[in-house]
Amino acid sequence: MSSLPQEASPSPQESKSQGRKVCEKCRELQEMTTALEEYIGRTNEQLLRSEMSDMELEQIFSACADPMMVVRDDGIIVRANRSMLEHLNSCCEDVIGHPCTELLSEEECKLANSHKKKSQTDIEIVGDNGETSNYIMTTTPLVTLDGTPGTLAQYKDITDRKQAERALEKAHAALERIARIDGLTQIPNRRSFDESFSEQWQQSLADQSPLSIILCDIDFFKRYNDTYGHQQGDTCLSSVAKALEQSLSDKNSGMVARYGGEEFIFLLPGMSAEEAIKHAETARSNVDNLALEHRASEVAGNVTLSLGVSCTIPQSNMQPQHLIRTADEALYQSKETGR
Ligand code: GH3
Ligand code: MG
Ligand code: MG
Repeated sequence: MSSLPQEASPSPQESKSQGRKVCEKCRELQEMTTALEEYIGRTNEQLLRSEMSDMELEQIFSACADPMMVVRDDGIIVRANRSMLEHLNSCCEDVIGHPCTELLSEEECKLANSHKKKSQTDIEIVGDNGETSNYIMTTTPLVTLDGTPGTLAQYKDITDRKQAERALEKAHAALERIARIDGLTQIPNRRSFDESFSEQWQQSLADQSPLSIILCDIDFFKRYNDTYGHQQGDTCLSSVAKALEQSLSDKNSGMVARYGGEEFIFLLPGMSAEEAIKHAETARSNVDNLALEHRASEVAGNVTLSLGVSCTIPQSNMQPQHLIRTADEALYQSKETGR
């Protein structure tokens, strides 16, 4: 029979030293456990804070009154707030994860994919009911959750503003029209003539083309008023204005305006003196053909016109007003020689 080798039992001093080492290890372990617990606590707190911050941002995104969405680089919509869903009239499942081409116009998709720089664009959207809405679409580049580039698209509804602008433009155009039209006869007024004459003078000067003027004046109109009353005088002025306007075959190349009380003026670009005289005769006979009774007239039984014609090819050393003065002189001559 053989016996196992006997280990020498530690001396009391050795046992004491080993005990101390174990205690030290225990203390180290205890300290490490405490540090670890503190670290885990801190990490959990950070995680919680980060989650709460995400939740807060999500709430802000969701509560934003303007429609907002995030479109990934590949054109997929990855986020959309409540307002955006309402704007698209769709639910979350029909929007998130879908390509923007399914839900947005070509222009909006193009803008939503231009993730290189921030941009603001006025867009017009025609709804299913045919109504037009206006928005400012702001696109801002961002990095999406999966690390790829994308675009945050925001819509600002400016329909009311655009409608107000359009109404203002309309009112402005109407006002412009009123400012250029004679209230009684509804043909262009003196102001309108002055502007057109000044523009046309420059044009004819540049083109070296003839420019003709015809001044027309109703004969014995004071007596007409005295005989038939001021109100019928007004009606007569309107009828004469219409007849003069009808003598213009092409309104684009000429105009007739009310120059003053019972005076009218033609502006006839490109018309030679002979053509202008022919036109004056047409205008005169148009009024004659109205056959408006005028028993107080000394020259006829009906309303008649006296006319003065002038024509020139403008030169840079000429005064534009000289052309009107010449027509006025011709009109005076016509009055003097029997109307
Ligand atoms: P002549 O043949 O020399 O041109 O004589 P006339 O009576 O036509 O010219 P005069 O300048 O003496 O009178 C012009 C008249 O035109 C006087 C004015 O009461 C009238 N008149 C001017 N404006 C208006 C208007 O808006 N309505 C009416 N009913 N009459 C007007
Ligand atoms: Mg007169
Ligand atoms: Mg007169």
